Amino acid sequence: MIKVRVRDRAGDPLVLLGLTRENTTRLLADEPILVDLAELGLPPLRIALVGGHDEQHVAQQLERYCGPLPFICPRCTRTSHHPDDKRYGYCGACHAYTGAPTL
Ligand SMILES: [Zn+2]
Repeated sequence: MIKVRVRDRAGDPLVLLGLTRENTTRLLADEPILVDLAELGLPPLRIALVGGHDEQHVAQQLERYCGPLPFICPRCTRTSHHPDDKRYGYCGACHAYTGAPTL
């Protein structure tokens, strides 16, 4: 992997992460890639990249490292940690089933 800190055309900081074929193969084999922005002279912030064959696989990988993910409403972006909201894709703020159920 190549990690570079540059500035974009507007002059704002931009971090470029270049992944090799081996990196992507490892991601798809459920091996996360960890990046610490302090290595690039930026404030310390650790980033974990995970891969998967589809969104469900990616969600499984993320939950493996950080525990159950909350439900984020695709309509209003409200976050719910209630397991039933995630299970049924229900948003209490929208009073509607706005997400895909994960039954
Ligand atoms: Zn909502």
